[in-house]
Amino acid sequence: SDVCSSDLKNNLLSPKNSHEKYKDKDAYQSKDFKSKITLDDFQTVKVLGTGAFGKVSLVYNEELKRYFAMKALKKEYIKKYQQTKHTKEERKILETIDYPFISKLYYAFQTKKSLYMITEFMAGGEMFHHLHDCGHFDENRTRFYIAELVLAIDHLHKHNILYRDLKPENILLDEIGHIKLTDFGLSKIMNNIEKDKTYTVCGTPVYVAPEVLTGQGYDKLVDWWSLGVLLYEFLAGYSPYREAKNRVDIKIYKKKLKQDPLISNTAFDLINKLCQPNVRLRLGKNSKDIKNHKFFESIDWVKLEKKEITPPFKPKIRYQGDVRNFDKMFTDMPITSTLGTKEQLLNPSSTIKNTKNTYIDFTYIGDKIKK
Ligand code: AMP
Repeated sequence: SDVCSSDLKNNLLSPKNSHEKYKDKDAYQSKDFKSKITLDDFQTVKVLGTGAFGKVSLVYNEELKRYFAMKALKKEYIKKYQQTKHTKEERKILETIDYPFISKLYYAFQTKKSLYMITEFMAGGEMFHHLHDCGHFDENRTRFYIAELVLAIDHLHKHNILYRDLKPENILLDEIGHIKLTDFGLSKIMNNIEKDKTYTVCGTPVYVAPEVLTGQGYDKLVDWWSLGVLLYEFLAGYSPYREAKNRVDIKIYKKKLKQDPLISNTAFDLINKLCQPNVRLRLGKNSKDIKNHKFFESIDWVKLEKKEITPPFKPKIRYQGDVRNFDKMFTDMPITSTLGTKEQLLNPSSTIKNTKNTYIDFTYIGDKIKK
């Protein structure tokens, strides 16, 4: 990966440090760039992945000489599966939140059939891919990712946003190795996250907190539960609730966790405090309590937030627009193909969405370019 890093510097894909890059992104929203963006401004290069209602592609903009990720959502599917509200929330969140560990929306536009969102291309690919490549992560690497996630989730909560779908597929790596949360399709904007509860049954069985399933109402603590599941999975290589893949049963979430030999006592203590079925006893009412846990003793949270801590792993990337970190199943797809979505909705390991929501007519905000 030395070759890789010098390649990156030579072709100026990545500024010297990521923090610069964070500030730099305003360049793409400056008045130097066209004020009206359309689909024609982006040349589709590869398919990167699919979500439930559309697909994400690697696209290239000639004028900026830059790659982006483009998420396309078919209006027809959004309407059919009553995801209008979720889609609107996603766009709103992506556009309001500006944080190093959260995907940022650069542009949004629409055609007659689809909605498009343009975000930064995360060349490192999905955490899911790396976790399966490695089997599991060592404690140091795990701590780095989980700590960046703590900051991301905490930032969302401070903006009254529940994330609700934390899992390795929704965590992407940039070319340096920092994380970014993506896919806000299930997120919810609350009036007051400290007081309000919400009731929609959604999430992914293996990562979802039990109180989401029982319907008595839940709050931001559901995200901290999922973080505990991730912490376990990163260290051990499997989820403690993997049984839920086949059959969702509330008992699965209440049983005492087994300490895999790959999990240290300190990490296991934190896991048990996060994956605490009794919400009143769960760690995370104040995020400081998580940050101050012994597991994070070596973390300098201020430096971490400024991306001043070098990631423990640098993804292999050879050139701009390199898609080697993405699943061939997607990158080999013809770029014009339209994908069915039904299989994903029926697959128990993919996100479950409550489709009982009242459909609210969608006022398309597209057309207008974010300034
Ligand atoms: P999503 O529907 O947002 O979960 O996206 C589906 C998949 O597309 C993700 O799991 C990633 O593999 C890929 N993807 C989404 N956003 C990006 C991005 N900004 N950069 C690279 N790949 C992405």
